[in-house]
Amino acid sequence: MAKKRVLITGAAGFLGSHLCDRFIKEGFHVIGMDNLITGDLRNIEHLFKLEQFEFYHHDVSKFIHVPGELHYILHFASPASPIDYLKIPIQTLKVGSLGTHNCLGLAKAKKARILVASTSEIYGDPLVHPQNEEYWGNVNPVGPRGVYDEAKRFQEAMTMAYHNFHGVETRIVRIFNTYGPRMRLNDGRALPAFIGQALRGEDLTVFGDGSQTRSFCFVDDLVEGIYRLLMSDYAQPVNVGNPDEISLKDFAEEIIKLTGTSQKIVYKPLPVDDPKQRQPDITRAKEILGWSPKVSRAEGLKVTYDYFKALPSEEWYKQPK
Ligand code: NAD
Repeated sequence: MAKKRVLITGAAGFLGSHLCDRFIKEGFHVIGMDNLITGDLRNIEHLFKLEQFEFYHHDVSKFIHVPGELHYILHFASPASPIDYLKIPIQTLKVGSLGTHNCLGLAKAKKARILVASTSEIYGDPLVHPQNEEYWGNVNPVGPRGVYDEAKRFQEAMTMAYHNFHGVETRIVRIFNTYGPRMRLNDGRALPAFIGQALRGEDLTVFGDGSQTRSFCFVDDLVEGIYRLLMSDYAQPVNVGNPDEISLKDFAEEIIKLTGTSQKIVYKPLPVDDPKQRQPDITRAKEILGWSPKVSRAEGLKVTYDYFKALPSEEWYKQPK
């Protein structure tokens, strides 16, 4: 029987590359698409020798043409870390809006089921805690993070419109902070920033007083949640993340212990619009997908640290693109 064909946009990125691996493992023919604006071909180079993998170097904000059948689309192309989307704000808005529109149009034309990558950022600086999918969010549209948050909110609205108006089979995953191998050390997020500082023998920088919280989900758990959502018949948004919440100060201390660094924590002023608390309510994912995270922070951090430590040391000092 011919293999089912899946298009994964953002394939050369952190999450996209892990999704490519998973779908190959599940026996799919995978078509990866990426314009490499924040991604890196090294994340998927091990797939190039496989017959069941193809790669298109293409900007999804422009018209997308994929010959042949498509059964599924996973739209993951988008800058995802503040350092990236603050540098390329217009491309970020475009890929969330025009890119999503192009992917939805393709899904409609090919009668494919599409899953779009939304984010906990659509909740902004949340006024309810933890955040469940019924919460509408607290976003500043004209703040620096607005380019990302509003693009993703528009993405959700456009996706629901294609579902309701055109009957396209759509899925929306609201992803909370995820980590693991193939993240970039210099992407500006707390976890790789702390590990990078420890590897370089620098003090660990905590912004504000470190009481702001985050909850980190290991990439394998996230990929499992996404796979289950895609295969489900549920079209409303679903939070996927790890509710195990920790303050950034305590987290920095965990990294100090894990890496054995003799450096200390230094405190710097909090950036504008930095969310104070972030924790997913995953009741819906549990009920509908039978999913909950399995990998503890201790296990996931060990794997991630080992990955970064094994990189050539020049990588530890690399500046963002
Ligand atoms: P990433 O930067 O590692 O990957 C994004 C990929 O998309 C990159 O390879 C980049 O080159 C590609 N891309 C960007 N714009 C493109 C365009 N116009 N055309 C084609 N390719 C383009 O980021 P990631 O962490 O893997 O995030 C992937 C998706 O998951 C994003 O949509 C992001 O919003 C979402 N997400 C990620 C997290 C997380 O914790 N990593 C959290 C919430 C949501």
